[in-house]
Amino acid sequence: MTKQTTKPIYLKIMKLKRTRKERTCHECKKTILKNESYGQRSITLGSKKDGMTESFDRDKEAFVIHQMRIKVDICKECAA
Ligand SMILES: [Zn+2]
Repeated sequence: MTKQTTKPIYLKIMKLKRTRKERTCHECKKTILKNESYGQRSITLGSKKDGMTESFDRDKEAFVIHQMRIKVDICKECAA
């Protein structure tokens, strides 16, 4: 009987979807063509101010967003 020494290898792979429209990769700026696979990653824009992601500007009478998370498209090469 042969001894089983193979351990399972877990690779974290971004779940890829197929796009129905053209997208631009956030990483390499290449165009992701129609029907090609792509992934999505959420990135953080800006930085918190006084620990707040948003605040109210009394002078402008408007909410100011200091930090927000957006989803960006990633091509399959950059997702790998
Ligand atoms: Zn890319």
